[in-house]
Amino acid sequence: MTTTEVENFPGFPDGITGPDLMDKMRKQAERWGAELHQEDVEFIDVKSRPFVIRSSDREVKSHSVIIATGATAKRLRLPREEEFWSRGISACAICDGASPLYKGQVLAVVGGGDTATEEAIYLTKYACHVHLLVRRDQLRASKAMQDRVLNNPNITVHFNTEAVDVVGNTKGQMSGIQLRRIDTGEEKVLEVKGLFYGIGHTPNSQLLQGQIELDSSGYILVDEGTAKTSVDGVFAAGDVQDHEWRQAVTAAGSGCIAALSVERYLVSNDLLVEFHQPVREEKKKEIEGKDVEMGFDITHTKHKGQYALRKLYHGSPRLILVLYTSPTCGPCRTLKPILNKRQAKPVA
Ligand code: NDP
Repeated sequence: MTTTEVENFPGFPDGITGPDLMDKMRKQAERWGAELHQEDVEFIDVKSRPFVIRSSDREVKSHSVIIATGATAKRLRLPREEEFWSRGISACAICDGASPLYKGQVLAVVGGGDTATEEAIYLTKYACHVHLLVRRDQLRASKAMQDRVLNNPNITVHFNTEAVDVVGNTKGQMSGIQLRRIDTGEEKVLEVKGLFYGIGHTPNSQLLQGQIELDSSGYILVDEGTAKTSVDGVFAAGDVQDHEWRQAVTAAGSGCIAALSVERYLVSNDLLVEFHQPVREEKKKEIEGKDVEMGFDITHTKHKGQYALRKLYHGSPRLILVLYTSPTCGPCRTLKPILNKRQAKPVA
């Protein structure tokens, strides 16, 4: 989850950050016996039975599966996008906004929805000013987000404006964006050091293509009341099947429907394996404890979790090596096998 502040998840009257919400959900699932493996699934076969799910690290056979692979941020495909990707252009303000590359600089965000407005507001924490580039004459974002953006003195909203390309300086750094007014055709260069995309998402359903029914945009087609897909035993939840609401709370609700449907499916097909809560041993607090405010100690060498990362990033003068993997993060996917190899064969 790349959302920073989640203000609309029930039960958190003061809001909660996306990573903290995820940590809580993870711990809750583990408390009830769920086994979590954080690795990329590379192959799914739901044409044979039992189904086969293969990741970079293991193969699992199952009688039922819930697909909850989410959706990936779209790109503008500007002519010089590749040249400046991760060196000025990013699709994730939350991941990259705090980078020294953008700190104290003038930045821009493209898009008019909740993602773009949220990113613009987030970036004002680090940038000296943020320009929001909106292709129509109005924002698509919720009224609350519109208010926050339009009333923020550190954000300028440019309506009827599209980015045509990015501009570089003689040092090869990004120095601006070539803009075009959609209503008048007028072009100009806006001087910014960073451009962030907030223009929507593509569902991560590629592994299921040709195996289950998808809509024309690639979203998995489900029966809303049961989360059933076109294949018996395969269920889908979250953004991979929801192009409309895409809220954490609606994703959680659809996950609940899918989980209960799986149970019903297994029972009705006589496939249910009874699960009993394992006897819990006192958990070793070693690293986990530092993930939360109370147990965090900046003098330790090894930490785990978002809270520790934020504290170290902002409060520690020491060099930080971050092992960070997320299914939606391309560089993480590249880095993970390399780091895993290093662990397997330590350098003498
Ligand atoms: P949306 O599809 O809602 O918005 C995409 C925005 O990008 C639109 O303003 C669209 O313009 C613009 N856009 C699309 N393509 C281009 C392009 N090529 N050039 C310029 N602009 C472009 O996507 P979001 O990711 O913003 O939101 C998706 C869903 O997730 C929504 O339902 C939203 O409410 C939800 N969400 C909720 C959050 C929260 O609760 N905290 C945070 C983020 C998202 P146009 O309007 O002209 O189509």
